[in-house]
Amino acid sequence: MSDETLFTKIINGDIPADILFEDEHCICIKDIHPQAPTHVLVIPRKPLPRLCDATQEDKVLLGHLMLQVGEIARKLGIDEAFRVVINNGAGAGQQVFHLHLHILGNKTFDEGSLGMH
Ligand code: AMP
Repeated sequence: MSDETLFTKIINGDIPADILFEDEHCICIKDIHPQAPTHVLVIPRKPLPRLCDATQEDKVLLGHLMLQVGEIARKLGIDEAFRVVINNGAGAGQQVFHLHLHILGNKTFDEGSLGMH
């Protein structure tokens, strides 16, 4: 069995996905089970399992991902109101152990709420 993550398979073209943007460090795909009218994932090509597995070596990559989030939000026309979510660990709801940033938009967000129970 392959050790590749689902997202590595998508990056390699082995599994189809709706790829909206890509560059040498990351791709952006539509989430298959959207939690908001606009819900995309920004995924580094490097298969870091979780945010907390990143090291000093990944500093530039993490900065790049954050800048890409802003750029993608602008391209999608949601830059006035969007939410970025990173689930770190199964207890936080992480299902795919390949770092990814959720961008959620075109949705009304409760003021001051992080949607936690
Ligand atoms: P997380 O729970 O933070 O690990 O998020 C994983 C996300 O990946 C979920 O929002 C899923 O809906 C999404 N997802 C799972 N499989 C696919 C796929 N094949 N294409 C696009 N998104 C997917």
